[in-house]
Amino acid sequence: MTQIAFIGLGHMGLPMARNLLKAGYPLKVFDLVRSAVDTLAGEGALPAASAAEAVEGAQVVISMLPASHHVEGLYLGEDGLLKRIPAGRLVLECSTIAPESAKKVHLAAREHGVELLDAPVSGGTAGAAAGTLTFMVGGEAGALERARPIFAAMGKNIFHAGPEGAGQIAKVCNNQVLAVQMIATAEAMALGVANGLEPATLAEIMRQSSGGNWTLEKYNPWPGVMENAPASKGYSGGFMAELMAKDLGLAQETASHSGSSTPMGALALQLYRLLLKQGKGKQDFSVVQQLFVE
Ligand code: NAD
Repeated sequence: MTQIAFIGLGHMGLPMARNLLKAGYPLKVFDLVRSAVDTLAGEGALPAASAAEAVEGAQVVISMLPASHHVEGLYLGEDGLLKRIPAGRLVLECSTIAPESAKKVHLAAREHGVELLDAPVSGGTAGAAAGTLTFMVGGEAGALERARPIFAAMGKNIFHAGPEGAGQIAKVCNNQVLAVQMIATAEAMALGVANGLEPATLAEIMRQSSGGNWTLEKYNPWPGVMENAPASKGYSGGFMAELMAKDLGLAQETASHSGSSTPMGALALQLYRLLLKQGKGKQDFSVVQQLFVE
């Protein structure tokens, strides 16, 4: 079976790698955080002491890192992994990064004869654990067909968004909608509760009415409304507010390139920057709720 190297075992990478193990793929794993590597080694993965060691002998390389500079740092430059991955191998770059950065890595991969797909995901940590992620893929259709069984072991929906960088463009559009919905939901929850409504009652009414949206279905920002949502666990786990701020920044950069008007996205970015200034960047992005309560 295809040998896979998996690099980046954080909130998302670890459960994604676990699903590949469950599907029977031989996996060599690396993260800068040793405990994450040890966890998966205890579940059957081969631990690697460096990214370079992880890719030795791998036919497919998957990375799930925080942001553009991590990805460029991993693959490009004199010590970059692309210098170590033999031609003909496949790289699935699943981090959410700038479309321009994704194109840069695509170009470098092509120069080395390596096939690469930008394949950011949606579905959160719960989707990563359940193997129900959505993959938004940019790159050659042929490479996507080669990768399809591997994506299918981690996700439910696999979309070919277009050529290189297109997956990232789809992802920033999606996350801009998600942030705006989260803020609108948090604002309405605070409004209703300030006027005497029970949070769970209000949440259920809106969920089943025309204000219903993904955050009301799966991720209510008010503590105690949804037992398994990060809001009910002190805003821990999930998707860090600083990563959402990063994605909103990417959406604004993308809008600047195309001259698009994105006022809701711009406001969402400003509100997330405020949260970061309050020291809440490492908490789940639903912590935006706290901007609206005393
Ligand atoms: P995270 O910070 O939990 O995990 C990133 C991991 O990468 C960390 O464990 C870190 O140690 C590791 N890392 C960084 N640089 C490395 C390097 N050079 N070599 C090896 N390991 C390295 O982040 P996450 O929540 O898992 O998110 C990963 C990506 O997925 C981000 O781009 C994020 O925007 C995107 N994403 C996250 C979610 C979510 O709900 N958390 C949902 C969809 C997409």
